[in-house]
Amino acid sequence: MKNRITLITGASRGIGRATALLLAQQGHTLCINYRSQQAQADEVVALIRRNGGNALAVAADIAEEQQVVAMFQRIDRDLGPLTGLVNNAGILQQQASIEQLDAQRIATVFATNVSGSFICAREAVKRMALRHGGQGGAIVNVSSAASRLGAPHEYIDYAASKGAIDTLTTGLSLEVAAQGIRVNAVRPGLIYTDMHADGGEPGRVDRVKAHLPMKRGGQPEEVAQAIAWLLSDAASYVTGSFIDMAGGK
Ligand code: NAP
Repeated sequence: MKNRITLITGASRGIGRATALLLAQQGHTLCINYRSQQAQADEVVALIRRNGGNALAVAADIAEEQQVVAMFQRIDRDLGPLTGLVNNAGILQQQASIEQLDAQRIATVFATNVSGSFICAREAVKRMALRHGGQGGAIVNVSSAASRLGAPHEYIDYAASKGAIDTLTTGLSLEVAAQGIRVNAVRPGLIYTDMHADGGEPGRVDRVKAHLPMKRGGQPEEVAQAIAWLLSDAASYVTGSFIDMAGGK
């Protein structure tokens, strides 16, 4: 595929940011989505442009359907026909056990992690599917090892939302396989990003890493490599697949 135009949700920091910088090096034109941290998103765009790449920052809360629709319209207008989507934006809440969970918290997590990813996938398919006059493309969902492990006493609501992302990956990959669209997922384990601070424990990776077979946490750049491969033509016969990246766990 020649002109690769790719949306990464939640690309202002962490895994999304690392993926943006790598894909820009590989020649993708990028939409850098973020929710609220405009300065960080602008910095990612500036870095890409300084290195000769092309990127645009677009604010949209993916939990809000109308904001997602408007973001895709902006991509149509300012970047061109979308060929790739990285469903990366995700949230978790303070570490807790089931007794502390309530419906509001669960709904908040699912609105971003599940509904947001579904609606982004819907808008991407509308643009990429051969039956809609598109040229095909690739979607990579950022799930988590938590979907397999369950995150007990930390955030089983988050883990369950990632279980839904795994099922989205399987179901959508089958639904659009004949439409020129591949759908795959990565399942990172403990990666050094700011997300753990949102769960109330900034040092979580270093606390838990001794329990991992590889005895270390992962870097966002390591996850970015797998995402970039799944998006690329090198993975042209790969769909409905999962890459576990959790240091052996
Ligand atoms: P992070 O450092 O906390 O960054 C999250 C990104 O998502 C930010 O750019 C944030 O934008 C954006 N975001 C959050 N809610 C959003 C919303 N409703 N709409 C649009 N953007 C939103 O997270 P990360 O650790 O890189 O995680 C990225 C993905 O990897 C997530 O899906 C996460 O579940 C998954 N993952 C992470 C780990 C890990 O150990 N870090 C492990 C497994 C899976 P703002 O900055 O503007 O708020």
